[in-house]
Amino acid sequence: MLKLPGLIDPHVHLREPGATHKEDYDSGTSAALAGGITIVLAMPNTKPPIFDSDTLDLALNAAKQKARCDYAQFVGAGPNNGDWDEALPKRAAGLKMYLDSTFGELRLDDMTLWMPHFENYPKTMPIVAHSESRSMAAAILFAAIYDRPVHIAHISLKEEVLLIKAAKERGIKVTCEVCPHHLFLSKDDIPTISNGHPGRGEVRPRLATRKDVDALWENLDVIDCFATDHAPHTIEEKDSDNPPPGFPGLETILPLLLTAVSESRLTIPSLIEKMYTNPKKIFNLPGQLETWVEVDENATYEVKASEQFTRCGWTPFEGWKVKGKVRKVVLRGMTAFEDGKILALAGYGLNVRG
Ligand SMILES: [Zn+2]
Repeated sequence: MLKLPGLIDPHVHLREPGATHKEDYDSGTSAALAGGITIVLAMPNTKPPIFDSDTLDLALNAAKQKARCDYAQFVGAGPNNGDWDEALPKRAAGLKMYLDSTFGELRLDDMTLWMPHFENYPKTMPIVAHSESRSMAAAILFAAIYDRPVHIAHISLKEEVLLIKAAKERGIKVTCEVCPHHLFLSKDDIPTISNGHPGRGEVRPRLATRKDVDALWENLDVIDCFATDHAPHTIEEKDSDNPPPGFPGLETILPLLLTAVSESRLTIPSLIEKMYTNPKKIFNLPGQLETWVEVDENATYEVKASEQFTRCGWTPFEGWKVKGKVRKVVLRGMTAFEDGKILALAGYGLNVRG
């Protein structure tokens, strides 16, 4: 039995408020525990989006009643909320900026709207940028100009990992995360994932080429965190005429990475660094006393959506054979998950920024 620290997922979409038929703080944090994750950082592109004190309260009130693991909630950068003081950022996981596929109230049409956020958001708290390719280069330039840390979400391309490597070598305060689906899947896998339903292959950033996937593996030392970008949509929505992009991932990240460990593509110390040590440091997260995850390293099994706690009802890894199963999760001295059962009650989870 392998013992790991309680793992941290700095990038999840729990769909609350506004789309709780896909997921909510209850089902999403249950999925986290089943996946060996004891802290989730929730993204703000909900309905309504989380961007001020009132909307933050809306999410945190739901979380307080429902969360089964610990959590913090991001606030989003919009066109009119760049005049940050100290108070609100202290209550948030960090600031999320959507620099590419922007939509709704978190839309940032030009770079003058980025400036107040980089200027005013406290430098002790991270800005997380959804920024692909050349907008990622722009986000790194902003980090250099404003001399503040920026964390690049879900990198997927060779050009991205190489530019981050170069920026780090020059002392720019940039960190990054990569998602399991960009490590284990390429665009060549889309026909298999889709299986006649093209919407199931839709995710942002899109699945990349084999060359990009290889570059991520070759530059693992540049990657600070593994994060799921758990983005649940129901199977009906994925199979509709207008499928929303996004993959669930909370329950598959650890078995996929442990399988890579069993194949000598990754080491346990590197896994702990990227799922515990680094996210804890980057996001200034407190320790969780008496918290650990027990994993049976040798258990092999098949990934099945029907056995998952996420409400979305599907996974792009359906039928994959993996090695390494979460047996038990102890969270702050209490067994929160054991042998396929969630034991932590709704409301047991704490706000780590509370
Ligand atoms: Zn996301």
